[in-house]
Amino acid sequence: MIKTPPHLEIHDDRFGLLVHPMSRLERIATGFTWTEGPVWFGDHETLLFSDIPSQRILRWSEADGVSLFRGNSGFNNGNTRDRQGRLIGCRHGCRDVVRTETDGRLTVLAAEHDGGRLNSPNDVVVSSDGAIWFTDPTYGILSNFEGYRAEPEQTARHVFRIDPATGTVAPVIGDFVQPNGLCFSLDERRLYVAESGSSHDDSVPSVIRQFDVDGARLTDAGVFAEIDTGLPDGIRVDVQGNLWSSAGDGVHCFAPDGTLLGKILVPETVANLCFGGSDGQRMFITATSSVYRIFVDVKGAEPWTRGVGA
Ligand code: MG
Repeated sequence: MIKTPPHLEIHDDRFGLLVHPMSRLERIATGFTWTEGPVWFGDHETLLFSDIPSQRILRWSEADGVSLFRGNSGFNNGNTRDRQGRLIGCRHGCRDVVRTETDGRLTVLAAEHDGGRLNSPNDVVVSSDGAIWFTDPTYGILSNFEGYRAEPEQTARHVFRIDPATGTVAPVIGDFVQPNGLCFSLDERRLYVAESGSSHDDSVPSVIRQFDVDGARLTDAGVFAEIDTGLPDGIRVDVQGNLWSSAGDGVHCFAPDGTLLGKILVPETVANLCFGGSDGQRMFITATSSVYRIFVDVKGAEPWTRGVGA
């Protein structure tokens, strides 16, 4: 019987099948200010991630370590890929959602709604129909640390959807204090959204909410799970439907019914995570000044991040 290592906390036996007790938590990069937005490019064997305050998107690979992917990033935060493999990013400074075309040009996909600038797009996910869903809390305009201080021009902190056919930017949820990370269930019939409003108001519950999805229409389906330490920021689902959430003490793993299975304890506050690696079975964790990696015995639910067509 292998003892549970100190970086794992097992709440349910199923967790032992997801994170092997011999797995190590490796710090693969450090020296940053606030890391976020990890996304794996399997076709390049590369991880991209943001260091928001230093206005950089960094690139990491096993062969070459860390290098600069993009400077003057506009305080880029969350990242994902669309089904064509293009990088989609959220920029606090530019207060927009931007796509990097295959030739490197940038296309702004969303910058305003109802006559006002967006707050500061934070995180983004693309559904299989090509719609782009993103959160718009105010973190990037509260100070000049990770954006530019400004008064909100939106009446709420929305979750928005960009229609794939028309490009129209429409709010789909408007009752969050601060919506943050988001991801879909395996069948895309459910959207999970992290509420991180406790960052500035202790009375806000640190929860992941869930919504039933019917095309562009969402119906509130209540709380999926509560985070017992810190708050939820970035979230991802694996191919078994488990949901992995960032938290104050590491990464928490929940079964599809919301049962807490276990935790990966990380020595720095975690903001986000993604699946990747050449075999698809590494979890990359952006945590404050560092990026960590750990073997997990399950792949992520977004195969297009492993490599286009993979
Ligand atoms: Mg975030």
